[in-house]
Amino acid sequence: MLVFKTAQELRSCFKSNTQTVGMVPTMGALHEGHLSLVKKACEENDVVVVSIYINPTQFNKIADLEKYPSNFEKDKALLEPFSHQLLLYAPDHKEIYPEGIQSKTYNFGTIANHMEGAFRKGHFDGVATVVETLLRKIQPQNAYFGEKDFQQLKIIKALTTQKKLGITIVSCPIVREKDGLAMSSRNRLLSPEQRQAAPRIFASLGELKKKNFGKKVPLMEAFFKNEIAREKELEVEYFFVASTTDLIPVSVIEEGIDYRIFVAVFAGKTRLIDTVELGRI
Ligand code: AMP
Repeated sequence: MLVFKTAQELRSCFKSNTQTVGMVPTMGALHEGHLSLVKKACEENDVVVVSIYINPTQFNKIADLEKYPSNFEKDKALLEPFSHQLLLYAPDHKEIYPEGIQSKTYNFGTIANHMEGAFRKGHFDGVATVVETLLRKIQPQNAYFGEKDFQQLKIIKALTTQKKLGITIVSCPIVREKDGLAMSSRNRLLSPEQRQAAPRIFASLGELKKKNFGKKVPLMEAFFKNEIAREKELEVEYFFVASTTDLIPVSVIEEGIDYRIFVAVFAGKTRLIDTVELGRI
């Protein structure tokens, strides 16, 4: 597998302007969720660039950054089956932040204000800074992002429109473990007890959808918190229902609008997020 530290070297491998380039930005510690993006990108493009870069500016807590999992050799091995089509971009901080590790400031309006935007201050400025840099450096036609981070996906779509990057953002469905837990690099930080408890998050969302709470979000929230409270390893940080267009949380469901549920749950010090469609009434 060809590995590049600079975009300049990597781009010298692109053969012609007729080749389509897809990009999958990641922070490494790869799992089947990441690989589903890589697979889709390989199906839809001639060449695929996977980036592995743990971006310091999107971590609002230093402890979270310090314990973020990484295993470059294992990541390379997981990407090996795609190596005939794939270029691995593993930049260092100097390549991404030549003028010092700092976020730029963005204004994405309501979509950045709630949920992850409210509970992880500065997170989306960090995400947008690194994604804008990566996309400008590699200049793919298509870039692939997971619905696991639904709010991030909306922000990256807004970013490419605002900055007129001319890149198509392709959204990819959430890949889950057999027991329903959304795959995440952070899952490998869970203790065996926490790992056993964690599927309750998705299971509770499934139970919630089967019940009839009418239009009342507080009843849904109470149900979810009650379910999660049955696991002593888990603690709800937030539960929100928001329309998929503006991502503003609501307390009453209105007819004819598409909503999603967004949750963040702590398993010990590890923070897990999940999201499901609520559909329409
Ligand atoms: P990360 O390495 O966590 O920054 O994730 C890199 C990309 O993979 C992002 O676009 C994520 O949304 C996506 N991703 C992470 N986990 C999953 C999953 N379980 N299913 C689908 N996509 C995912």
